[in-house]
Amino acid sequence: MKAEIIAVGSELLSPDRLDTNSLFLTEKLNEAGFRVHLKTIVGDRKEDIARVVAAALERSDLIMIIGGLGPTDDDLTRPAVAGVLGRRLRTDPDVVAVIRMRFAARGVVMPRINERQAQVIDGAQVLSNPFGTAPAMWIEEKGVKIALLPGPPRELQAIYLQSVQPRVEACAEGKRLTRRSLHVVGMTESEVDSLAAPVYRRYRNVETTILASSAQIFLHLNEWVSRGEEPAQAIELASRLEQVLGDAVYSTSGESLEAVVGAMLRGSGRSLSVAESCTAGMLAARITRVPGSSDYFLGGVLCYSNIVKRELCGVPAALLDSHGAVSAEVAEALAGGVRRACKSSLGLSITGVAGPGGGTVEKPVGLVYIGLADERMSWSDRRVIPGDRESVRERAATYALAHLRRYLLDESRGAPGTRAEDPRATLPETPQ
Ligand code: ATP
Ligand code: MG
Repeated sequence: MKAEIIAVGSELLSPDRLDTNSLFLTEKLNEAGFRVHLKTIVGDRKEDIARVVAAALERSDLIMIIGGLGPTDDDLTRPAVAGVLGRRLRTDPDVVAVIRMRFAARGVVMPRINERQAQVIDGAQVLSNPFGTAPAMWIEEKGVKIALLPGPPRELQAIYLQSVQPRVEACAEGKRLTRRSLHVVGMTESEVDSLAAPVYRRYRNVETTILASSAQIFLHLNEWVSRGEEPAQAIELASRLEQVLGDAVYSTSGESLEAVVGAMLRGSGRSLSVAESCTAGMLAARITRVPGSSDYFLGGVLCYSNIVKRELCGVPAALLDSHGAVSAEVAEALAGGVRRACKSSLGLSITGVAGPGGGTVEKPVGLVYIGLADERMSWSDRRVIPGDRESVRERAATYALAHLRRYLLDESRGAPGTRAEDPRATLPETPQ
């Protein structure tokens, strides 16, 4: 069955805002058995919205209209859709009461203008909004289903899951799109593809896509299956791909690298602290994005300057003078120093030249050292990362997590110390 998404809002036609709601909706609609065959972004002009909605009624089974449900003059979705359907807009006193209560709960008297949000299209089912004032609507018109959803992503997602999803499921027929994903780190996109392509090309019913993002590779395996059926081909392909890619695959269930590393830390009973120079907190931010990270993450030092490297991480001045702040020696000293300062079992560090200035022939822009220390010794990993300042910083944080994952994997396999002989043997020198 065919679905289409119409995102309303002039801001979505500007360079400042991106329509991300349709990504969420597309995933959900695919899972329910709808193919999204068209997405339109339309500005806040009533005639434009009406024209797009009128065309959608001719070609789609399900139409999701996002945004423009607010109380201001530029929120025109309600009157535009009512006009196309030839239905009246009426103020629903129950909805007014709900909106008034929301304002009262915050100690504010409802501005008159918000009454507009209580305007309901005749025959529409009103779907309450747990996070905002504008309710959503579900309308059926000559076999076509239409949902009007508020633009703020938190509101849209909550209403979708609570009230729209059951209605969408009830009218879906045919096959559903199911997805399996493999997340990979420590290989370039071309390395992954050269190993994976000969395998996935043999699975004609599975649509495989490869995406690279901040030094990680995501393989998505999509398969359309009948209701109640498992995606047998995609499951088989995922396990074949896992065989050829080996332990570069860090997740097959959609987990982030930081979540996987966090679970490994928790499992090993070890705690972690970080010392970050050029990433200045990005690594710590990623680690603490994972709920429950306080079980294993103690904290860290944002050691941007040499003074902080010396004073808070105990890096000897002589080491900084002789090797420079961006060096294997300093990376290891930072990891050891922060580990001592925070009294954690492991210390992880990043020092590098993020650019765009500051590069030299020996230490080019993108040169990054990752350091890791435990109670016995320290190791470092050298990377030259291409790209602009932000991608160097983002990828450096990924490599630090990958470095730690590799250490924890080796430890769990009872191979401690193997890294000490050749710490760089397990990861390629210059990926991507
Ligand atoms: P409100 O009551 O907040 O005005 P609304 O339904 O009128 O809700 P809009 O005014 O169109 O929604 O959008 C509100 C905000 O929601 C926008 O500023 C934008 O940040 C976000 N938003 C709107 N549409 C989208 C979209 N398609 N994808 C992502 N964010 C969106
Ligand atoms: Mg609005």
